[in-house]
Amino acid sequence: MGEDQIIPSNGHFDTTYANISENGITAVNCFSEELETRVQGDFNGNMNLDKLTEILEKDGDRVPLVYMTITNNTGGGQPVSLENIRAVHALCTKYEKPLFLDCCRFAENAWFIQQREEECKGMSIPQIVGAMFALCDGFTISLKKDGLANMGGALLIRNNCALVAENPELLNNIRDHQILTEGHPTYGGLSGRGIMTICEGLKTVVTESYLKSRVEQVQQFGAYLKELGIPVIEPIGGHAVYIDMDEFFKGTDMKREDYGGISLTALLLLKGIRLCELGVFAFGDNHPHNFVRCAVPRNKYEITDLYYVADCIKAMYDQRDKLPKAVPIYGKDLSLRHFKARFELRG
Ligand SMILES: *Cc1c(COP(=O)(O)O)cnc(C)c1O
Repeated sequence: MGEDQIIPSNGHFDTTYANISENGITAVNCFSEELETRVQGDFNGNMNLDKLTEILEKDGDRVPLVYMTITNNTGGGQPVSLENIRAVHALCTKYEKPLFLDCCRFAENAWFIQQREEECKGMSIPQIVGAMFALCDGFTISLKKDGLANMGGALLIRNNCALVAENPELLNNIRDHQILTEGHPTYGGLSGRGIMTICEGLKTVVTESYLKSRVEQVQQFGAYLKELGIPVIEPIGGHAVYIDMDEFFKGTDMKREDYGGISLTALLLLKGIRLCELGVFAFGDNHPHNFVRCAVPRNKYEITDLYYVADCIKAMYDQRDKLPKAVPIYGKDLSLRHFKARFELRG
């Protein structure tokens, strides 16, 4: 299908990466310099413009579109600046490429833009959201995130954008695919109740009172973990705190290929805590980031619940030289292995 094609991004989400690969296309991450070198920047989720330019310059004819994840989940939940989206848009215009957003956390990203980007300080969240979306040709969104809904997702494409003008069959082909894989649009993939929840969720998610308490709760959780000495990725992102497993196990016998992040998440399940390894097991042994993600569900928890989580992580940290290795006993070589593998913990 997409042989020889390349889709660059500031950081593909794991299943996005897998979907692209499944179609025979190469997914490329252009992580920002700050993220790669662990410098604390305001917008570490940004696209690396040099890397993107290089790809467009050298292999532009292989690039069907450019994708931006907002906020950058795989890159530590870090925000992307409006300036960076504008710069990527300018490159896309220059090289005549459509720009698509994976914008599951568009509202949290807008909040960071308002807080941190000088020229946007006086703008309201809906104004910033408008400015972000004015730059894209289309977007995908999981409405379980900043849709504040239980279920649902969407692919939207701008009317009359160049992509559609040049590919008149595109929308029809997408609809055919949907009929094959989900059902005809009029069958109603979501219940009316679900759709109404999304409508209300999208209105709520851009209010400053909601965003302030949401992001502050995550920041407070991260600050507390840091106070306990846990090596967290800084600055703390908008929806999750990421723990650096290479640092966590530094000075112990745990090697990267022992999947200490899996052991940590497995043992914490016993305390009713579900974290997610997004490191060398999820992405392969050579992945630059070896994180465990502590994502915070929206509108579900009090800060004291998160302190409990942090205290449990600290108890593990205190015994880090005694934690068992995670040995994959099933699925180590399957695609999407981190969704399916099973492990044995061996001391
Ligand atoms: C959750 C998420 C997805 C996938 O959405 P699902 O509804 O879980 O399939 C894609 N991209 C990003 C950035 C996400 O956070």
